[in-house]
Amino acid sequence: MKQTGDLNLVKKINKTIVLHHIRTDSPISRARIAEITGLTKATVSSLVNELIESSLVDEIGVGESSGGRKPMMLLFNGTAGYAIGVDLGVHDILAVLTDLTGKVIREKRIQHDNASAQKVIQLLKITISELIEHAPESVYGIIGIGIGVPGICDENGTLLFAPNLGWENVPLQQQVEAEFGIPVVIDNEANAGAVGEKQFGAGKDTANLVYISIGIGIGAGIIIKGELYRGATGFSGEIGHMSIQHDGPKCRCGSLGCWELYASEHALLEQARQELKSDNVDLESLLSKAEAGDEAVIALFERLGYYLGIGVVNIINGFNPEFIILGGRLAGAENWLMKPLLGLLEKRALPHPRTLLNVEFSRLHDRSTVLGASSFAVAKFFASTTVSVERN
Ligand SMILES: [Zn+2]
Repeated sequence: MKQTGDLNLVKKINKTIVLHHIRTDSPISRARIAEITGLTKATVSSLVNELIESSLVDEIGVGESSGGRKPMMLLFNGTAGYAIGVDLGVHDILAVLTDLTGKVIREKRIQHDNASAQKVIQLLKITISELIEHAPESVYGIIGIGIGVPGICDENGTLLFAPNLGWENVPLQQQVEAEFGIPVVIDNEANAGAVGEKQFGAGKDTANLVYISIGIGIGAGIIIKGELYRGATGFSGEIGHMSIQHDGPKCRCGSLGCWELYASEHALLEQARQELKSDNVDLESLLSKAEAGDEAVIALFERLGYYLGIGVVNIINGFNPEFIILGGRLAGAENWLMKPLLGLLEKRALPHPRTLLNVEFSRLHDRSTVLGASSFAVAKFFASTTVSVERN
């Protein structure tokens, strides 16, 4: 923890620590917080009183005593405010209203044809407005909006490059903040997905995980020692543009033979159009055909699983994660993707990094990104009301 002589700052840091324990370990007593943090009971009590006054913490009656008077237990007040989480996809927008603990209150999904960035942003604003209208009354109201995007963005929330949307330099954060007048956080959708899985999904107990989002394109969110790894300048995770064939077809990113040209939803649909001789294919219809036992469609999914495996082997050998979570729209095809994928890992991943590795499809279905995005908004709110703390 960084220390400073500024007493006010020290108090804010302590308050953040106390709130952190109430958020993650509640119901919890003041005495237990003092024990865990090493703060004096008097300090904890005074900080807890401030948190109760600011409606972020409730007292919920007495708990078990370890001798002496039974302690009053504390609970984080998750409904003191609400957040919006958005997954801005290449063809659709999924948005949720959550409370401060990430519980989904309402969900909305709409399709878009990506006619222009301005039209999609207009739809995005309408979707967010509808969720805001349905938010329950609360002390802090809507505390923020988090948006996961299929591309890279800078620290000002400008979407710099999203090849599958065809957008460049779109000041998304600025536009959404101007519309609603509340804080907005923009991040890559796979980063948001990784954080969603770490906080709410299969990755809860894992410190080193890679979340791979398989949609129209492929992206990865990388969590190392419990923290999202962003790279030197914030652009890590563009793993769909890892070249797996040095002289392969040209990708929209400018390179050749990128992984997502073989293993994404876009690749699947291209192959289906060619091999099934049909222009009218989408993921949903292919999934129902596979479900009905259509062998040609099942073969398409199995080949996709093989190509997914090629990239996953490279990730395993490169990062040695404990956990690889596969999410995004293609997660619905787990039944046909998993076997060829695992078969390839068995044959090609290096044996040492493969030991103890767990590979799973997301159990949050398509909510990893929206939940992570909403948690970014909640984190920003707490960083502004208390103070963020760096810990080793
Ligand atoms: Zn590429």
